[in-house]
Amino acid sequence: MKILVASDIAEEGISKLKKEFEVDVKKGISKEEILSIIENYDGVIVRSKPNITEEIIKKGKNLKVVARAGVGLDNVDVNCCKGLGVKVVNSPQASSDSVAELAFGLMLSVSRNIARADRLTREKRWEKKSLMGYELNGKTLGIVGFGRIGRNIGRMAKACGMSLIAYDPLLTDEQIKSCEAEPVTLEKLIEKSDVITLHVPLIDSTRHMISEKEFQKMKNNAIIINTSRGGIIDEDALCKALSSGKILGAGLDVFEEEPPMNSKLLEYDNVVLTQHIGASTHEAQKRAGIMIAEEVIKALKCK
Ligand code: NAD
Repeated sequence: MKILVASDIAEEGISKLKKEFEVDVKKGISKEEILSIIENYDGVIVRSKPNITEEIIKKGKNLKVVARAGVGLDNVDVNCCKGLGVKVVNSPQASSDSVAELAFGLMLSVSRNIARADRLTREKRWEKKSLMGYELNGKTLGIVGFGRIGRNIGRMAKACGMSLIAYDPLLTDEQIKSCEAEPVTLEKLIEKSDVITLHVPLIDSTRHMISEKEFQKMKNNAIIINTSRGGIIDEDALCKALSSGKILGAGLDVFEEEPPMNSKLLEYDNVVLTQHIGASTHEAQKRAGIMIAEEVIKALKCK
């Protein structure tokens, strides 16, 4: 069987695949080229790009599996795959530690003004008084979405002396309590948290789940962190909360529009912005490559 690797996948994963299949690696391949060769392949592997569209899937007469290394299937037409009996696999667990560590880094950067202190120092401005921060120790962390990443950041926060509350309507109270967090409603979480961190998928029920009403109910000086997906926070409402000084600051790895080059968020000093790099670690990419190779082997070799 033949596999097309259409993105940059870790070498360890490619070696695993080569033991089982004929593998062609074509990073950065265009849509037109995929369309012209896809019928030769039994499986295709991508990361967040390229898009595996209905047109491609229908052209792939021999396609049996579409694999996305990493989390999210936004670039794969999953419904079309289902309809045609093509399996869809991914490796969502590969980056959980990396994303949680980034979220934790953003929490520290906002609470202790790390990014701002760096900027001032480079500008040769020694302004210690303006850099007074807050400890995380003893504070309450509100985790929205208590899945893989939410639990990981909970573990880190606990070690830092924070207490945990969590909102996840798809889990039982017992499941949340077993990870040393108190289950609460979203409303309670918003009211009680010193730091709120978001770890939910972007679906209808989560789009703009943090909007004007939620910002108004937050503690004064709350911090909000989003490493999940842009669109979960209403960015206009966030800008209002930052302008009015209602919240202390925000740490954002994801944006409604990426890259956020025309966003008003770039104007605020108390926002730490990163470039959707949650999964961008050597370890996560290596794991994603190996895990996706295993998933493809399972999908093609097990009936
Ligand atoms: P997960 O599926 O393990 O956890 C998500 C949790 O959200 C689940 O427990 C689910 O029950 C819960 N949930 C679903 N709908 C909800 C709702 N309406 N309200 C509250 N909770 C709800 O997912 P994960 O691996 O922890 O990933 C979490 C998010 O992180 C995803 O959006 C993913 O796309 C994102 N992510 C970002 C990066 C990055 O580079 N920044 C990398 C990987 C993952």
